[in-house]
Amino acid sequence: MLCPVCRKPMVIVEFQSIELDTCLDCHGLWFDAQELNHLFDLAGCPRHLHGRHDLAAQVDRLPHVESRRRCPRCRRPLESVRAHSPADALILDKCPHGDGLWFDQGELESLLTARLGEDADALDRMRGFLGEFASVRRGPQDGLA
Ligand SMILES: [Zn+2]
Ligand SMILES: [Zn+2]
Repeated sequence: MLCPVCRKPMVIVEFQSIELDTCLDCHGLWFDAQELNHLFDLAGCPRHLHGRHDLAAQVDRLPHVESRRRCPRCRRPLESVRAHSPADALILDKCPHGDGLWFDQGELESLLTARLGEDADALDRMRGFLGEFASVRRGPQDGLA
C-alpha cells in the first residue's frame, strides 16, 4: 500500500498481534479498522472509552472537509475527522468506507493521551507500549519494503 502523504510504499510492521502499515519517510501509521481496537486494548485503554467495534464512534466527521489524501486500500479520498478528545485540535484522516484511519506522526500518542486522561498508570503503560512499538518499527524490517 502507498503512503497517503508521500505516495511511497509503506512497510508492514507486526507487533503483539497488531499488524499495521507505516511510512518510513513521514512516520505516519495506517490502521485497519480492527487493528485500532487491538491497539487500544494493548495500550491499556479501557474498552468503554474507546468505542470498541465501532471505528466511526471514535471520531466526528468534519462537515464538507475532504482530505487531499487517498485511502491506501480503496484509493477514495480520505475524510478529515475530529477525534473525540479534550484536545480538539486533533484532526485525523479516515476512509469514508471504513477501511481504516491514518495517523500522522505523534497523533496516535495525542489521541491515546486524551483518552486516558487523568489515569497516570494507564498513561505509563501506553507510553511504554508506544516506546516498544517505535523500537520494533526501527528494527530489522526497515528497508525491506
Ligand atoms: Zn509517508
Ligand atoms: Zn478505503
